[in-house]
Amino acid sequence: MKTIKSTRMFGGGVHPPEKKDLSCKPALVTLPVPAILKVPLVQHLGAPAKAVVEVGAQVKRGDMIGAAAGFISASVHAPTSGVVKGFEMLPAAVGRLVQHCVIEADGLDARSDLIQPLPDWESRDVKELIDRVAEAGVVGMGGAGFPTHVKINPPPGKRVHTLIVNGAECEPYLTSDHRMMLERTADVWEGIRILRKILGAQKVWICIEENKPDAIAAFAKIDCDDDVGVAILKTFYPHGSEKQHIWATLGVEVPAGGLPADVGCVVENIGTLIAIQEAVVKGWPSDSRCVTVTGETVVNPGNFYARCGTPYADLIAAAGGTREKPRKMIAGGPMMGFAVANAQVAVTKTTSGILVLDAAHATEFSSMACISCGRCNRACPLRLLPSEMSCAIEADDIDTAIDLHVIDCYECGCCSYVCPSHRPLVQHFRRAKGVLAARNAKARAEAQAKAQEKKS
Ligand code: SF4
Ligand code: SF4
Repeated sequence: MKTIKSTRMFGGGVHPPEKKDLSCKPALVTLPVPAILKVPLVQHLGAPAKAVVEVGAQVKRGDMIGAAAGFISASVHAPTSGVVKGFEMLPAAVGRLVQHCVIEADGLDARSDLIQPLPDWESRDVKELIDRVAEAGVVGMGGAGFPTHVKINPPPGKRVHTLIVNGAECEPYLTSDHRMMLERTADVWEGIRILRKILGAQKVWICIEENKPDAIAAFAKIDCDDDVGVAILKTFYPHGSEKQHIWATLGVEVPAGGLPADVGCVVENIGTLIAIQEAVVKGWPSDSRCVTVTGETVVNPGNFYARCGTPYADLIAAAGGTREKPRKMIAGGPMMGFAVANAQVAVTKTTSGILVLDAAHATEFSSMACISCGRCNRACPLRLLPSEMSCAIEADDIDTAIDLHVIDCYECGCCSYVCPSHRPLVQHFRRAKGVLAARNAKARAEAQAKAQEKKS
């Protein structure tokens, strides 16, 4: 496979300490199945899955326990065989209560054969492959959790010419994609070929940051046609975001409010490609993932394959526990992750990492007034105005923040990272988006009620 070095740099961004050496060396470890799994029915962006099993039901690994409930939704499957003990509302990594299906494992780990493997995928039609990805509940495993069957099926009129594989893994501390690129190169490559067929994409770029030379070498060895290559990106944050990825690779800008498909691209993450490969070739629903467990206080940081529904505590124990009492635990990386309340939170399809910080590394600052230094504005890769947006939100002027395009902010955290006043900028933007979402939901409900009134 050919390799090119991309010298294009997007505006803004930051280069925080990488801290990947903590966890990138040890080989992947597969965790045993816990006795009790609490499987969230929301592991994706969009409508929660609707429970389709009753309390007391016997399930096998791969049986559907939650059905996709809308166009933007994804199904959820039993991660092992056992008995459904009940449903509980429990805190999830996203910071709210979510319905969980509680499964008591029977220790057999028997697989359901409801979904048949398609090893002959090359001769199958595209619709069958997309349906398979939907049936298997595959979602974007880079963190966003967008249902993959929607993303890989762009609306008519939008032709995808380039598949961009996101192997940047630019978040500090996280190394799960790196390990998978090394240890599951063949599966990633088959996932790429399946997705290339689905999209009808002529070109494929596998984009990897230059701090992973072994992963670059692993893909460069693959024998393939000239339309596929490895693009070596500079190590810089947030190279892994879709818009920055497309710019660095092709020099093409996705318009504000637009999607990669608007410029003929689809960007897919490493874990998602493995999930696509498993769904199609093996007939396995997406029910597990690779999670980085790391932090200076973790005794043996590394990467672990865990079933969805496994508590974080099991992964931290598998990594040897911690030297110091944890002060803070983050689902994901330090830039885009969410602080979680306790270690009983369950692994989902989007848990890329568990970062455990002790007092020395979880420094808490008090937020101060904005000094109008402009650093946040310069750091924003989308050229938004974080200082103005945050001041407006603090003054409860959400409309001004909306006019300043707060909705485009993808919460990369660069602005918060550089702010000398330690202002909670991303939290402000999440609040504004929450207010906007609530307003939109209210408007939809009112419109539906009016339509109902007219009918009756
Ligand atoms: S969090 Fe939002 S506003 Fe801040 S730098 Fe990132 S995209 Fe820009
Ligand atoms: S970096 Fe912080 S202090 Fe400086 S302008 Fe932005 S919000 Fe204000």
